[in-house]
Amino acid sequence: MNIGLLGGGQLGLMMIEAAHKLKHKVTVLDSEQNCPASKICDDLVVGDYSDKDKLKLFAENSDTFTVETENVPVESLNFLTSYGPVRPSADCVSICQDRIKEKNFISNLGIPIGPYYKIETKLDLKKIPENLPPSILKTAKFGYDGKGQVDIKTKKNLLEALYDIGNVPCVLEKKLELTKELSIILVRDFSGKVVSYPVAENYHKKGILDTSMMPGNVSPVIKDQIFSYAIKIIQGMNYCGVLCIEFFLSGNQLFVNELAPRPHNSGHQTIEASICSQFEQQVRVSTSMSLGSTILKYPAKIKNLMGDLWFEDLKSKKIVEPNWELYKKSGVTIYLYGKNTPRLGRKMGHLTEIFSDHTND
Ligand code: ADP
Ligand code: MG
Repeated sequence: MNIGLLGGGQLGLMMIEAAHKLKHKVTVLDSEQNCPASKICDDLVVGDYSDKDKLKLFAENSDTFTVETENVPVESLNFLTSYGPVRPSADCVSICQDRIKEKNFISNLGIPIGPYYKIETKLDLKKIPENLPPSILKTAKFGYDGKGQVDIKTKKNLLEALYDIGNVPCVLEKKLELTKELSIILVRDFSGKVVSYPVAENYHKKGILDTSMMPGNVSPVIKDQIFSYAIKIIQGMNYCGVLCIEFFLSGNQLFVNELAPRPHNSGHQTIEASICSQFEQQVRVSTSMSLGSTILKYPAKIKNLMGDLWFEDLKSKKIVEPNWELYKKSGVTIYLYGKNTPRLGRKMGHLTEIFSDHTND
């Protein structure tokens, strides 16, 4: 089949590799001619997701549609439904791309989320007390890797920060004491069957995922809670495809942080460590194949390779290729996304390390 993929970043790149192994073709729509997926996709339409002419060209080439980012206009996904199945659906993506909708959806299911205020109008601001606990202001839309987030200490701070980010709709979240960050990746097919990978334990630096271990070190009680919330969420959305749910564990209280309607950085381990990777699952659901096995063959850890690694001395602007010899040890895979320009805080690739208890003696 020919899969139409909205977005050509690294998640798209890894999805295309999985599609090719199953002998599917992929047409990508992305605004960047040189996006990571451009090097291996079968066809690339360069254009904005909201450009109707480009969308039409893209749609005519494809039998089925999926996304590698939540930042796609819902109208564009609705438009594509007349050309083929869109998995995940416009409705699901629309919940996951807007923190206010997402929080409403999750709390309406009776699932705990951290304390927050929504800020859409001036009236909402009046409801926020003068004495704030340490909080984080997040834009409702288009945030990723900690972007669109500001630490807030006072109400004055909040008003200034809102002004600086252009008074767009936001949420103000209480900053939680995090004991652990956890995530789970589930896959649901069009018949409603659900499978899930083991819970991953994630460590962030400056709001960006640094390392992720699968399976995470989590008590059975917390694991059960995560599974039960996750199933409720994926079924409640009538979701089709790969969904990641991020959790905060604060003491022994579990809160949902956010949803990602696509393969997720905390699941890159599944390429080397699982029978069927999260990327292959997305391809399988898109093309109406049966779900693959989520069995983890080995515990595995990923570490993101950030652009910072290319700047030997952070003060100088000189780009220096990292010394890859340092990372070449048994069980470690170096995966680079083919991005031309390293930048501080930019994800350039990742390392996967698999751990095996088995010996051949
Ligand atoms: P992004 O879309 O950038 O991943 P997140 O909301 O997941 O945005 O925030 C990124 C990271 O910032 C989280 O993984 C966590 O480490 C930290 N963070 C975000 N919100 C909170 C919060 N309410 N309390 C404590 N830490 C937070
Ligand atoms: Mg996140």
